[in-house]
Amino acid sequence: MPDLKELEIYNCLVIHHSTTIPQRSRLFFLEPIGVGTPLTESLSSYLTRLAQEHCVTPKKLIMGEIAPLIMSDKYQSEMLSKNVSTLFGNSDAKPAINGMRDMTESLTVALESLTLREDLRYLSCLTWKGIIRERGLFRQHKAWCPQCFEQWRQENKSIYEPLLWSFKDVNYCSQHHGQLVDRCPHCDSQLKAISDRSILGFCDRCKKFLGNSIKVTLNANETDLSNIQVISSLITVAPSLDFPLKLDDLMYKLQLIHFSLQKAFNQDLTKFFVLGKTMEQLKITFTKHNKTPLNLIKLMIPLCNFAQISVSQLFKEDPLILSQIILDNFEVNCKYFLNLDHISALCFS
Ligand SMILES: [Zn+2]
Ligand SMILES: [Zn+2]
Repeated sequence: MPDLKELEIYNCLVIHHSTTIPQRSRLFFLEPIGVGTPLTESLSSYLTRLAQEHCVTPKKLIMGEIAPLIMSDKYQSEMLSKNVSTLFGNSDAKPAINGMRDMTESLTVALESLTLREDLRYLSCLTWKGIIRERGLFRQHKAWCPQCFEQWRQENKSIYEPLLWSFKDVNYCSQHHGQLVDRCPHCDSQLKAISDRSILGFCDRCKKFLGNSIKVTLNANETDLSNIQVISSLITVAPSLDFPLKLDDLMYKLQLIHFSLQKAFNQDLTKFFVLGKTMEQLKITFTKHNKTPLNLIKLMIPLCNFAQISVSQLFKEDPLILSQIILDNFEVNCKYFLNLDHISALCFS
């Protein structure tokens, strides 16, 4: 024990190096689950989990913190008498919270400024705004895998809702090989993407847990599996793409793919016949192209499948390298094209 009399007493403390205190976020710096993976959390799930972390309902969080940033005073007072699903409901007539409409963008910007996170845009489909047609892409009500909920509960993990479950064409859980469920097994209610008092994993109406370990095996067909795989890839690849994507760049690539496929299938007319519908759809898209986003399910997925390329390759590869990959896939003799630039010239001549 030092002798207190020997201790020096300072009148003031001088710090020679200035210390910088990082900016504090208004709301928790809550990390979204699974960004960059097929099971990336959805924006509605993140918003609900953020409310849970702050021990308030989604409505309280929205009205107290988010509404002042994205709504006029008049609309805020109207909102007090309505429920939040009126604002963020999923239907063709209303903005889909996990989609790519203006309200999703406003909500994302508001949440990013409140949490100081920069990765929240990947929780919705904003990356694909203006590229993929939104109409008919999303469910109007929630769907979930009861076995995922049960597994996360048993493993003491956060219960959340992956963005993948928001898509109408995803009916199957690849982890449990079971069918997604869209009605509460206790009260048969359909649930909105977000409601005033949503709690993840529980029914909004009867408040019971939505998970269970009962296996409901579904024999998913090839189209279902292919749709899930491509949509999973879109979600996974989004954070690694240069933003914003340009529709013109995609159209240029599609034209090169079209040309490469024509060359490839001219050598085997049987295969060309199978490809017919997609080729026709692609031709219509070129002739009618007036900056309208493309149909994911009817055009982009079949085209990637036929060309034997992944969505990641479609969006990330240089156009001419992409053509080369397709020609290689079909073992077309590339010596025919002395220079790949020649393909581009032929496409647009
Ligand atoms: Zn599952
Ligand atoms: Zn219920």
